[in-house]
Amino acid sequence: MHELSIAQEILGIVYQYVPDPKENSVKSVRIRIGKLSNILPDSLTFCFEAITTDTPLKGAKLEIIHIPVAITCSNCNTTSEIEPPVFTCPLCGSNQIKITGGTDMRVDSIELNDEIEEKT
Ligand SMILES: [Zn+2]
Repeated sequence: MHELSIAQEILGIVYQYVPDPKENSVKSVRIRIGKLSNILPDSLTFCFEAITTDTPLKGAKLEIIHIPVAITCSNCNTTSEIEPPVFTCPLCGSNQIKITGGTDMRVDSIELNDEIEEKT
């Protein structure tokens, strides 16, 4: 499943920043998903919960921010956001466009639960 490998990729990035997480130490992971990335958010959330359920990251929430599709128009040289399935420049109507954003997924931030640290 496509989303499972993405969830594992996210988990890998979390472990890069928090190599030795304690139980409940990671509150949430904020990710940005482009509208053209073909990632199903519900499925990704499900996979992330599934692979973290027996780990110290259990309970960490996946916060998903949807990124619009950005294009650069070769005709009028502007950058705009478009709403698929319309793939034309909103300013001049040209279809000579290059998609420059909204196709990928990246981890935006990782929020830690500081309260847990203080209690111990
Ligand atoms: Zn244009």
